Amino acid sequence: MSDSPLLKTATLHAAREALQRLPQLQRLLETPTAQALLLRYRREHVAEAMRDRLDALRQSICAGAAKGVAPYFVEATFFIEVRDELARRHASRLVRVINATGIALHTNLGRAPLAAEALDAIVETAAGYCNLEFDLATGERGSRHALVEERLCRLTGGEAALAVNNGAAAVLLALMALAAGGEVIVSRGELIEIGGSFRIPDVIAQSGARLVEVGATNKTRIDDYRRAIGPATRVLLASHPSNFRITGFTERPPREQLAALAREHGLPFIEDLGSGALVGMEAFGLPHEPTVAETLRAGADLVSFSGDKLLGGPQAGILIGRKEIVARLKRHPLLRALRCDKLALAALEATLALYEAPTPPQQRVPLLRMLAETPQAVARRARRLAGLLRAIPGLDVVVAQDRSPVGGGSLPGDTLPSTTLLLKTSDISADGIARRLRQARPAVIGRIARDRFILDLRTVNDAEVRELARLVAEALAASSAS
Ligand SMILES: *Cc1c(COP(=O)(O)O)cnc(C)c1O
Repeated sequence: MSDSPLLKTATLHAAREALQRLPQLQRLLETPTAQALLLRYRREHVAEAMRDRLDALRQSICAGAAKGVAPYFVEATFFIEVRDELARRHASRLVRVINATGIALHTNLGRAPLAAEALDAIVETAAGYCNLEFDLATGERGSRHALVEERLCRLTGGEAALAVNNGAAAVLLALMALAAGGEVIVSRGELIEIGGSFRIPDVIAQSGARLVEVGATNKTRIDDYRRAIGPATRVLLASHPSNFRITGFTERPPREQLAALAREHGLPFIEDLGSGALVGMEAFGLPHEPTVAETLRAGADLVSFSGDKLLGGPQAGILIGRKEIVARLKRHPLLRALRCDKLALAALEATLALYEAPTPPQQRVPLLRMLAETPQAVARRARRLAGLLRAIPGLDVVVAQDRSPVGGGSLPGDTLPSTTLLLKTSDISADGIARRLRQARPAVIGRIARDRFILDLRTVNDAEVRELARLVAEALAASSAS
């Protein structure tokens, strides 16, 4: 039928007319609708979005003509598309998320949420000027590194401390300053990878040191280390397997033995703790994690860990240990490239202060509060949300007991009891619900199992429950085209 020469001529003719009828950009910019857009966006951005839309229309008119259907210009549709495109191009890319995964330390969701005190400290010091590198006592140049050092030492029993940009930077700096040009001895059971890009062997190579592997994947003995020590050895490094666990026949020398061996040879013993708990996790019903203080007491000369894992603070890498060792790190020329900015230092200092407050830190540090919350309190919140969600027509809500991992390179394999809501509707799949909730603002992230969309209430806070119910209602009501 489309082969008919008469019809083809007719559509070509229609297409030519449709192209000719496309309005001029200048005229479109003068319409009241465009004027309204110009109150929200710069003229060049509005013009660009319109030009792109007109180009697309031109192309679909030509493509349509070939197929025998020539679309034409409809001003109302045109402006809806331009408005949506402008909204998409200029929306914030970094947005708030309601974390209903149950994973308190979710690396992809920004790890630890900050305490109110940390946020206040950021606003208080960063909205104007602050004494980042100015000594208020003497009126002379000060050191940003001194801002958190004393507190870190009081909290852990370390002699000196330094905060850098993140845990990876902390390990890199330590190895560059202490081991470059020499050898670093690591157990084969501790050649870890964290988060897909931080690998101990690669970091050692980047630091300019050489890796010497000892022992086997599951068993390393103190004699393995002893035999590997030679004139080129600079550091004994232990790293905490923070995102996996080896079970069965395993063996690692106690930290005290490693520390003693290092001391015997005048070498520094560094422990990359990773998760960096300042308080015992058994208080929250979790297995014991070596705390920073314990690791130092066991004889580590330098301990490194992240600020935004079990500490519950901002992204940072903290190094604590012996004074002369930390002094070598402070003198390293690349420290400037790895240092913390004022926002992180403000938040870190305020978070550390919560650990020194008379009230237990789990009352104020959101991460610890989430870990410490009783299963009954999580269940109550889940029932409250279930009550609100059951008002949504067509939504089936089941309350279930589940367990949530802690996540974020901390406490692998350990979980906390939690309560989840399993959602199902007859017309939208679990994937569909997940997609719609990702598009909501704030976005909602849950998980999917057995074709149900699951909200885990351990990581949702009480203040988010009403909002979460509204977001689910809106997401399910939205047309399936979105
Ligand atoms: C998480 C972790 C790191 C990396 O810390 P980031 O703050 O993510 O850079 C390094 N080592 C260990 C053992 C870790 O657990």
